[in-house]
Amino acid sequence: MQFEALAQQYKTPLYVYDFDGITSQYEALKNAFKARKSLICYAVKANSNLSVIRHLAQLGSGCDCVSIGEVKRALKAGVPPYKIIFSGVGKRDEEIKEALECGILMLNLESEAEMYRVETIATSLGEVARISIRVNPNIDPKTHPYISTGLHENKFGVDLDTAKRLYIHAKHSAALDPVGIHFHIGSQITELEPFYEAAKVVSDLVRNLKALDIELKFFDVGGGLGIKYSEEETINPYNYAQVILNTLKGLDVTLVCEPGRFLVGNCGYFLTRVLYEKTNAGKRFVVVDGAMNDLIRPSLYQAYHHVELLDGKGEETPADIVGPVCESGDFFAKNIMLPLTQHNDVLVIHSAGAYGFTMSSNYNTRGRAAEVAVEAGQSRLIRVREDFETMIALEEACL
Ligand SMILES: *Cc1c(COP(=O)(O)O)cnc(C)c1O
Repeated sequence: MQFEALAQQYKTPLYVYDFDGITSQYEALKNAFKARKSLICYAVKANSNLSVIRHLAQLGSGCDCVSIGEVKRALKAGVPPYKIIFSGVGKRDEEIKEALECGILMLNLESEAEMYRVETIATSLGEVARISIRVNPNIDPKTHPYISTGLHENKFGVDLDTAKRLYIHAKHSAALDPVGIHFHIGSQITELEPFYEAAKVVSDLVRNLKALDIELKFFDVGGGLGIKYSEEETINPYNYAQVILNTLKGLDVTLVCEPGRFLVGNCGYFLTRVLYEKTNAGKRFVVVDGAMNDLIRPSLYQAYHHVELLDGKGEETPADIVGPVCESGDFFAKNIMLPLTQHNDVLVIHSAGAYGFTMSSNYNTRGRAAEVAVEAGQSRLIRVREDFETMIALEEACL
């Protein structure tokens, strides 16, 4: 990747995505599931740029969305409604209504109360809502607590007994069509065991429901496949698929998988230039033009991102890589070994394709970074750098 040239052409801070890399990740996962009918629904929240979604849509991907805004992004990018799933613990009435009107594949429901809302809204529209219920299988995914979702202590989904009760209600409702079952136990999971345990518990429930004459068509295993940020061992997609497929023997269901990070995480880079070096009582800081408003993962989850100094030469000493934002939590890396840098040197922050740009903000009135796609050696802008006028427009209109 020609990072120096990209930084020159598009300026910094900058997100760069390797679209060929995204293709490889998608194909690897799709192939892993080829023994069965499958639908990959890209989790849009990982990176919701329209060009990223369109790229995946062209490969055949559907989308998993957690707001009506994401559903509209998916539609705008060319994803057909019958490949769109709408998940999330707190859907507003308007969101439910719009999703039903769009005719998406299914709504993933996360509580009994939500099921009644959907039933009421579908009835008033004269529609039948295709639904799936998110089961909380109470499995520890062994990941960061903020991104663990499949334990009873987390807010997500319903327990097995409740799920069963909801399916029985839905089966007898004229406005609900229970077509799927769903679980998503967490993110950045690097062990097979939790996936196996969850799939087993949920597939047993599917068999149970079948005996009650409730035939589900979609078995949605969520996302959560971890990627390599550092030295961690990750799961191979083939083994992941086998473990899940093994729990589905005798069931005629389409497998649905909702990867976010796995598809885009390691295909994204954040480019930032060095502003200054400074030392405070012997402690070395490299101050760069990117900040926590651009990429918050290190501040929010103490996440590790590999930092590469382009054309770095000479002796390496420990340094913190920090941004200009007025927070001590504004850092990209701490105590990493780095040669002495010069003004305008480019640093590449790796593994920034997922939960990077989508979690960015205007904190400190900093415009959001530009985004660039690289495909077959060609680069193109996929999001214009946000300027001051755009940032203040909604306030200026009220002044
Ligand atoms: C966030 C999320 C995903 C994607 O998670 P990754 O760890 O990025 O794969 C999938 N499904 C649901 C319901 C989610 O909330």
